[in-house]
Amino acid sequence: TFRALVLTQGADRKVSGTIETLPEDRLPAGDVTVAVDYSTLNYKDGLVLTSGGGLVKTWPHVGGIDFAGTVETSENPAFKAGDKVVLNGYRVGELHWGGYATKARVKGDWLVRLPASISSRRAMAIGTAGYTSMLCVMALEKHGITPASGEILVTGAAGGVGSVAVAILAKLGYTVVAATGRAQEGDYLKALGATTIMDRKELTEAPDRPLLGERFAGVVDTVSGVMFARALAQVKYGGAAAVCGLAAGPAFPGSILPFILRGVSVYGIDSVMLPKAPREEAWRRLGSDLPLDKLDSTVSEAGLGDLMTLAPKILKGEIRGRVVVDVNK
Ligand code: NAP
Repeated sequence: TFRALVLTQGADRKVSGTIETLPEDRLPAGDVTVAVDYSTLNYKDGLVLTSGGGLVKTWPHVGGIDFAGTVETSENPAFKAGDKVVLNGYRVGELHWGGYATKARVKGDWLVRLPASISSRRAMAIGTAGYTSMLCVMALEKHGITPASGEILVTGAAGGVGSVAVAILAKLGYTVVAATGRAQEGDYLKALGATTIMDRKELTEAPDRPLLGERFAGVVDTVSGVMFARALAQVKYGGAAAVCGLAAGPAFPGSILPFILRGVSVYGIDSVMLPKAPREEAWRRLGSDLPLDKLDSTVSEAGLGDLMTLAPKILKGEIRGRVVVDVNK
């Protein structure tokens, strides 16, 4: 048997969850069964746990888009019992049962072997959020941005993706401007390595001109909306933005001018269906370039029984840093 937070959706689309013990034959199809140690809470998990967010097609459902644990049985030649693995995305926790359970069964092709330096708890402190932050940093690096290029703006800095991006960029020597709507998180962001804390309000008024003064060499945007439009209007000639999030909604009131007058580039970041090779590269880089001790200060721990209460909070932007879910608690 295994224990899982089982979700059902009512006629009003509202999702309820109960912790149940289920027989193993309820696990979905897959060639690798993993004993889950930890999962985590992402913005997308918040959607699944409250309304389904249009992401879940069949109920009852087990959420959790990330998990880390130990292979229990494998019919996939790439994995054997005892291997430490991590899973991010591939629509696990949306279309396929996910990590909010003590066991998960998935396709081995979706799993990444954990670097030895990263424990399963820390892998979930990183989670899709941290792995996406790494992808954003890698995109800016591939564009040719170096610490000497100038300031990097991170929006939604106190959130999961934002806070890990701040920590990685600072460790790599970049000067980081952390934009947050929560002034009380300034010290936390400075401890992660931010040089300057910017009040979100400086970026929440729609730009009155298509181009503002050139300031940032690069941007990691997790928010979209007016903040992204305003950030883009301040990217220096030849700079770039890595965009991964929509915490303020999908639309942004932008102009074409930063692209065609300043040669600014935008890199779209998708962590979900990313092929295996860059996934493995991102996890390798997380093992070397993320200050794991600093990461620990961003973590709060929860159990399966806390998730229904935490879900609406992440949707309101009230969660600081990363939540690690001990599925055995
Ligand atoms: P999170 O922990 O909730 O962080 C989002 C942060 O955005 C909040 O902490 C807040 O930061 C800021 N924010 C929230 N609502 C806002 C608003 N209305 N206006 C301006 N700022 C707002 O979520 P997360 O897990 O880091 O995810 C961030 C975004 O990235 C989400 O949209 C998520 O869906 C997306 N994402 C995408 C991928 C991908 O593959 N592309 C992967 C992971 C996540 P402050 O309090 O500091 O202002």
